[in-house]
Amino acid sequence: MNFELFTWSLRRILIFFSDTGGGHRAAANALRDAFYFAFPGQFEITFVDGFKECAPFPFNHIPDTYFPLTAYAPWLWGALFHSSNSRVSLPLSASFDDFILRRGCARAIRQHRPDLVISVHPLINRAACNALKDLNPDAPFVTVVTDLFDAHGLWFSAAADVVIVPTQGAYERGIRWKFPREKMRVIGQPISLKFATSDSPNAVHESQSELRARLNLRQDLFTILLVGGGEGMGPLRAIARAIDHANFPIQLAIIAGRNAKLLKQLQKLPWRVPVNLQGFVSNMPDWMRASDLVITKAGPGTIMETLAAGKPMILSGYLRGQEEGNVKFVEEEGVGVLRSTPHAIVTQLRAWFDGERSQLTQMQGNAKRAARPNAAVEIAREIVKLL
Ligand code: UDP
Repeated sequence: MNFELFTWSLRRILIFFSDTGGGHRAAANALRDAFYFAFPGQFEITFVDGFKECAPFPFNHIPDTYFPLTAYAPWLWGALFHSSNSRVSLPLSASFDDFILRRGCARAIRQHRPDLVISVHPLINRAACNALKDLNPDAPFVTVVTDLFDAHGLWFSAAADVVIVPTQGAYERGIRWKFPREKMRVIGQPISLKFATSDSPNAVHESQSELRARLNLRQDLFTILLVGGGEGMGPLRAIARAIDHANFPIQLAIIAGRNAKLLKQLQKLPWRVPVNLQGFVSNMPDWMRASDLVITKAGPGTIMETLAAGKPMILSGYLRGQEEGNVKFVEEEGVGVLRSTPHAIVTQLRAWFDGERSQLTQMQGNAKRAARPNAAVEIAREIVKLL
């Protein structure tokens, strides 16, 4: 093979993301896999963490502050979200982002020489777009929004050629922020190709019982999957304990994500029901498909993945500001309920187990209807039209 000719013909896509939570990286991974799947041998995809690699000190440490800030001072997180999201404050926050990130983004763009740039992070897209347009005005810039409903105004603050939104609600939000409607596309949230529908060639075909056998889960028990985003956030331990003490005929699968401290605590506890404890897993689709119900904070990635797996959900909480709209989405679609305390979660489970199971079945049907399991590939196809 003529290797030089081969690499020359590859088109380069640069994706700006950041590890603030697990959702932005998950969306970037899904998009990369979708390009490689739908356009084999045609693209080279590179990721740049917009904060870690492009921001000057101390702003390059922003991803490290996400977990402590959202876990221990959620009110402060909510205050920052709302105070930066008004007609008056948005231009200021957008200019500040641009000021700290544009030079670093330009450096990354000069290094990777992309034919097209994508941002999956609201705080990075304006600076990345400006940097790209300074260096190569003809190269397209695409924003892929990963908030389901109340998308922050910063998502729409870049002069992007196309903004892809996951829901009609996020589209309306874009219109409110006066982003040109002809440049927006409602497609879905990019989630792992492993969630693709069974008629898709990249779908996983294992049945629920095959998955349970492989994951060391009991076949005969109603299975509750408990997750808290990439960082294992929220009162997972208290929720798990409350469910364990309720004597339901269930088993629990608990995914602590990158929260190693939580995993250790969970491992030391005595459990009454069968419990399967995991740290960060790279096969979330398998865990979701093997389960009957998902309990999660209102992270957009996890919500859309749960729908794609066709499971009902209980939202155990949400991050102020950024995830409030996700709760609205889940309730309006009839795919889950918000129960913010361990006690309320147990009460809801008891109601379902004591006779209202049909509600679970109905939610399952709604989940399948609201799901966009092939969104990542559809987004990749839409983006390629720009080249
Ligand atoms: N996730 C994962 N492994 C884990 C825990 C989480 O792959 O052990 C993924 C999860 O499937 C989802 C993302 O991390 O894609 C979490 O995104 P979400 O938007 O729900 O929440 P965030 O972590 O961004 O607050």
